[in-house]
Amino acid sequence: MLRITGGQRRETGPDGEWVTRRIPGAAATKVYRCPGCAQEIPVGMPHIVAWRPYGDGGDRRHWHSSCWDRRSHRAPRPPR
Ligand SMILES: [Zn+2]
Repeated sequence: MLRITGGQRRETGPDGEWVTRRIPGAAATKVYRCPGCAQEIPVGMPHIVAWRPYGDGGDRRHWHSSCWDRRSHRAPRPPR
């Protein structure tokens, strides 16, 4: 189930609940490493930032949009 709240989206995936936000290219001013593919997200590339809905937000991770979409449809390591 998806809920929209002020540009943020609550998602439930195979690995639990996440809050996501779309980062436009203009706001991508740092290089990040995507946990989905272990490749860098270059400056200026629109992408997704995701974090747990609980805690202090210190677990934020930046993902390629395509990697995030793949992740939410199928866990990186399917159980069977
Ligand atoms: Zn990636």
